Amino acid sequence: MCAVFGVWNHEEAARITYLGLYAMQHRGQESSGIVSLSEGRHFHHKGLGLVADIFKEEQLKALPGKAAVGHNRYSTTGQNLLANAQPLTAEMMSGSLALAHNGNLVNERSLKVELQKQGAIFHGTTDTEVLLHLLSRTPSQDLMQALQQTLPKLQGAFSFVLLAHDRLVAVRDPLGFRPLILGRKKNAEGSWAYVVASETCALDLIEAEVVREIAPGEIFCVDQSGEQSLTFKTISSDSTSTSEAKPKLARCIFEHVYFSRPDSIIFNKSVYESRKNFGRWLAKETAVDADLVIPVPDSGVPAAIGYSQQSGLPFEFGIIRNHYVGRTFIQPQQSIRSFGVKIKLNPQVAVLKGKRVVVVDDSLVRGTTSQKIIGLIRQAGAKEVHMRIASPPTTGPCFYGVDTPQKNLLIASHSSVQEISKFIGADSLGYLSMQGLTEAIDSSSGYCAACFDGKYPTPLS
Ligand code: AMP
Repeated sequence: MCAVFGVWNHEEAARITYLGLYAMQHRGQESSGIVSLSEGRHFHHKGLGLVADIFKEEQLKALPGKAAVGHNRYSTTGQNLLANAQPLTAEMMSGSLALAHNGNLVNERSLKVELQKQGAIFHGTTDTEVLLHLLSRTPSQDLMQALQQTLPKLQGAFSFVLLAHDRLVAVRDPLGFRPLILGRKKNAEGSWAYVVASETCALDLIEAEVVREIAPGEIFCVDQSGEQSLTFKTISSDSTSTSEAKPKLARCIFEHVYFSRPDSIIFNKSVYESRKNFGRWLAKETAVDADLVIPVPDSGVPAAIGYSQQSGLPFEFGIIRNHYVGRTFIQPQQSIRSFGVKIKLNPQVAVLKGKRVVVVDDSLVRGTTSQKIIGLIRQAGAKEVHMRIASPPTTGPCFYGVDTPQKNLLIASHSSVQEISKFIGADSLGYLSMQGLTEAIDSSSGYCAACFDGKYPTPLS
């Protein structure tokens, strides 16, 4: 995953970026960085860890200027090193350039090898650096033209924000995998400041209004003379196939299932409403006799509300979350993750004792979390535990930027629903169907659901 943010023409650019990144901390907790622009020069600060720990008054004061770009990193390619922290910066023939990326390129390896053969040296291990190398080899000194010539070579998911010495640029891949929102806000002089962000929740915090999504295949640019927009297409590596046979859009369904904040509008839809709908459909498809519905907090809350409304079963908070513990999934080691569930979630005996409980979560990946949670709920005295998952079985890894483990660690890739139910210790297990998922989001096309249906919308090299 990752969060990207950019602002142009605001006197407090670095602080606005800080707030935007703060609102999008859920998209990445490994590192964070801001590059600002003042009088044609870039200033930057990056660190490992959380936004509020990396940026204090001192660091923000050292980021002058009226434009900035920022990034929160959740490593899906490359290790968690400072060298991989973004925005990346480079000195190009045309001047300084800072680059922030959300998504994952699927042809990174072949592009990298080709560039290395030509003498390119890479500083880190992220896929993002290839864009800087490709741009530096493009004869055009005009950034917009250079991007238009270069971007078609990239395959996969990319929402980029670039800050050059004279402009802010936002780019979204032609299939629109990852979100990218354009907003605006009045500055102190009363003119418009432009803002781009991965999620609308970042615009809410800084009191910017949403203008529109950056369109899939769009290169949007704002500079002193105003805004400009160009388009580009990806070159298909399979030249024999017709474009009609390929999906036109592949917006990530998992943004709605789990990743985005529920108060964001993603792909022009409320994430909260989508999740409630997933829960409603789940209740229709997997009804069971029970006394109450409880969510796995926080990710299962909207779906559990939907389940409760549809089924008529009362909604209760049967598990209380400690909000001062980070997301357990982020921890890289299995041993830490298992421990994490206990320190994070506390089941309430007063709610659960003697009850037949429906437990709703957004997704089940390895099954470890559900197993632990069900154990805790039983210890609290529940009579029956019925696990309900507000998305279909996760059977395929994501190559477009969501951190899913390799296929053999995805429990649903090798076990039946009954086997998984037994493994997690539930009395029953029910998933939302693929049809339920698409009906609930009100669209049978335009989404990438490869993690559930195995239909990868790009070649995987
Ligand atoms: P597990 O089945 O133990 O692998 O964990 C599933 C839990 O992790 C669910 O409660 C989800 O809310 C959460 N989850 C699913 N996918 C991700 C992801 N890509 N990053 C972080 N957490 C996730």
